[in-house]
Amino acid sequence: MDIKDLQRENIKTLRPYSTARDEFKGQASVFLDANENSFGSPLPANYNRYPDPLQLDLKEAISKIKGVPIENTFLGNGSDEAIDLLFRAFCNPGKDNVIILPPTYGMYEVSANINDVEVRKVNLLPNFQLDLEKIAETIDANTKIIFICSPNNPTGNSLNRTDIETILANFKGLVVIDEAYINFAKQKTFIQELTEYVNLVVLQTFSKAWGLAALRLGMAFSSRPVIDILNKVKPPYNINQATQDLALAALENIQQVNEWIKITVAERERLSAELAKIPMVKKVYPSDANFILAEIANAVDVYNKLVDHGVIVRDRSKVTLCEGCLRITIGTASENDQLIDLLRAMN
Ligand code: PMP
Repeated sequence: MDIKDLQRENIKTLRPYSTARDEFKGQASVFLDANENSFGSPLPANYNRYPDPLQLDLKEAISKIKGVPIENTFLGNGSDEAIDLLFRAFCNPGKDNVIILPPTYGMYEVSANINDVEVRKVNLLPNFQLDLEKIAETIDANTKIIFICSPNNPTGNSLNRTDIETILANFKGLVVIDEAYINFAKQKTFIQELTEYVNLVVLQTFSKAWGLAALRLGMAFSSRPVIDILNKVKPPYNINQATQDLALAALENIQQVNEWIKITVAERERLSAELAKIPMVKKVYPSDANFILAEIANAVDVYNKLVDHGVIVRDRSKVTLCEGCLRITIGTASENDQLIDLLRAMN
């Protein structure tokens, strides 16, 4: 499979934006090329200068943790930017299609709609696993991407590894595995499989376990040709300097992050068990993520009552296969206790 052939037609011949520093980076001491403020910045850091477009220092640090070479790493303004760029780089508007697997993360469809790319939906099976047969029937010559979210948002479960491998082995377009919640899962990441499959893209993010949602930093790991194409279409300075600096500092704090992951998983199990004891909670789905999907009698009323008490959860009660469900993010122990107390009082 030649990844270059998968590109959107106009991207195949696109000449990307270039800067004088692409060639002279690090070799000059006087920078009069980019119309910056030469006098400085009102802030202590060198924010008067444009940031490194390829974020090499940050990628180096990420590479040490993930074990993925920097040339197989793309950084986006959130993984949402990587999702959008995949459409812009690979999908011809009005011609190509992508497959999504509802119930799943909403941005795949929104990004497809923004890019005028057809969305084909193959619902998960009632056990929230992949319907391989229907997926195979739905693929055609214009199917460019299949989006697989594992652990899946909003259901919380991981998808069977062998099912995902079947798709990877057979599908000729890109297989995007969104691992936003992988740090909370028992399931292993797919980044080890990158050398095996040229069409695999693994998305991860700093917004969940890393506690940096406000910085907007997402990762896409893939083969060299895919990464090169994403770099070709991305806005030149898509990761700002503050984000690069702060993320580098955060990577020194991995122990703290690992501690929070352990606490989150422990709280998830405690909250699941407590919810299951409340009579109006009809079902608590097992979760591999930092949230729980629960089916609750009169879910919308419960949602509104929680709002009245200043507690916001996510109403997923109208979502296919999640009818009557609320999605609850794992909070601190005291936040979870507040939620449990409120739900018990409503019974
Ligand atoms: N993928 C999934 C499955 C998500 O749930 C989210 C955020 N809710 C994202 C991606 C987006 O993450 P980011 O903040 O990195 O854009």
